[in-house]
Amino acid sequence: MTRTDASLHPARADVLVIGGGPGGSTAAALLARAGRRVLLLEKERFPRFHIGESLLPYNRPLFEALGVWPALQAAGFPRKTGAQFLLANGTKARRFVFRHGRFTREPEILQVERARFDELLLRHGQRLGAEVREGWSAGAVTVAADGVTVQATDPEGRPHRLIAAHLVDASGRANLTGNQAGLRMIHPRHRKLAVFGHFDGAWRDPGEAGGDTVIVRGADRWFWLIPISPTRTSVGLVLDKDTFAAEGGDAAEVFWTAVRHSAVMTARLAGAHLPGALQVTSDFSYFNRRLAGPRLVRVGDAAGFMDPIFSAGVYLAMWSGRLAAEAVQAALSEGGDGGRRFAAYEQRVRRAQRVYWRLVEHYYTTPFMELFLEPRHRLDLPAAVLAVLAGDLEPAWPVRWRLELFYLLVRLQRHRALVPRLDFRPTPAHAPSLPAAR
Ligand SMILES: Cc1cc2nc3c(=O)[nH]c(=O)nc-3n(C[C@H](O)[C@H](O)[C@H](O)COP(=O)(O)OP(=O)(O)OC[C@H]3O[C@@H](n4cnc5c(N)ncnc54)[C@H](O)[C@@H]3O)c2cc1C
Repeated sequence: MTRTDASLHPARADVLVIGGGPGGSTAAALLARAGRRVLLLEKERFPRFHIGESLLPYNRPLFEALGVWPALQAAGFPRKTGAQFLLANGTKARRFVFRHGRFTREPEILQVERARFDELLLRHGQRLGAEVREGWSAGAVTVAADGVTVQATDPEGRPHRLIAAHLVDASGRANLTGNQAGLRMIHPRHRKLAVFGHFDGAWRDPGEAGGDTVIVRGADRWFWLIPISPTRTSVGLVLDKDTFAAEGGDAAEVFWTAVRHSAVMTARLAGAHLPGALQVTSDFSYFNRRLAGPRLVRVGDAAGFMDPIFSAGVYLAMWSGRLAAEAVQAALSEGGDGGRRFAAYEQRVRRAQRVYWRLVEHYYTTPFMELFLEPRHRLDLPAAVLAVLAGDLEPAWPVRWRLELFYLLVRLQRHRALVPRLDFRPTPAHAPSLPAAR
């Protein structure tokens, strides 16, 4: 028998949050701190594994606003001060240091093991007063004029009917309400797949650069290397789903063949050991046609998911989680279904998504990489790209016009070599040395 939850006093929450990832935790923490009655449902029990370990520097002010920055600093996660982009064959490499970026306001951040990081954020929200129910799975959502009803299942499999004034959908790539409403649009050219694992003993650059995210780019695939502890490195390969299938569809075979075809990856993983098995996840980019509706806002991956190349997912989730909390807080103060506030939320998040989608689209073109890896540039154009890579979701004019000019040059580079062409041809497996990252 489905029952209306009696343990809620009053029975109706101000806000129901679905999902305890970074997006849901942020929204729940801020609303609870503002004195709202928040109920968060999370279908897993934390700590739980999650992929996506590299954070962006602009996340730091958000951590400070939440009050979790000291705890994160004390957690012993590696410092990330830059990012490296290398060709897989080792013929070209470039290191970007955030503090050297002319338009980058935040100089560094952390690389995290998500199981620990997500739990730290969720417990923080709990301490601020959010009621967190782990092992609870949300199902059908109904929005009425005066509130939202969610059918949920508790850890013993019993059904419940939960009622709240507003709903924050932070269900991640499960995309609960977007799928229920048929809103999801999959990007036709970004049907990708990731094969990944946590390795011990992968080679790292000495000194500060050892904390960098390292992106190793082949012609039709790329690897990430993200240090998540003093010894452990998250390593993943991203390629088209169709290419994966054409190469036999065996994750270990495809991964290790790609490693053997890359001098850089062969060298970096030469002394590494993978304690568990490689994992696979589909990695399709999508967005929902609507990010909000009456009494409902979607945050993080439940608003849209972009290819992970620029490590923006956690930051976008927390940034949109904060905006959602502000919109819901205002809606609760004013009464009503949040219409105007939620529409403004949708517009702002949509604009930020577009900035990243455009960058991702360009990243996968060879002319983009040819210009991006070119160290000699007038007008500080890569510095504008770097600002967005650091997390500048709403770039000001000096960054915007440089980005436009950069994209124009990318289009020109397609037809005429403004800078030297890149050579993606694989090198033999036993390449002698790594390129020096600048
Ligand atoms: C291969 C890959 C690599 C990535 N690399 C990076 C990276 O380096 N850096 C980065 O910033 N991002 C990265 N990302 C993206 C990042 O992981 C996500 O963008 C981020 O986790 C989004 O946070 P979220 O809170 O929206 O969703 P999530 O973190 O996914 O949290 C959603 C939560 O909702 C819960 N949930 C789902 N459905 C229900 C339900 N019905 N009821 C109750 N609970 C539910 C889930 O259990 C989960 O805990 C990567 C993603 C992929 C696929």
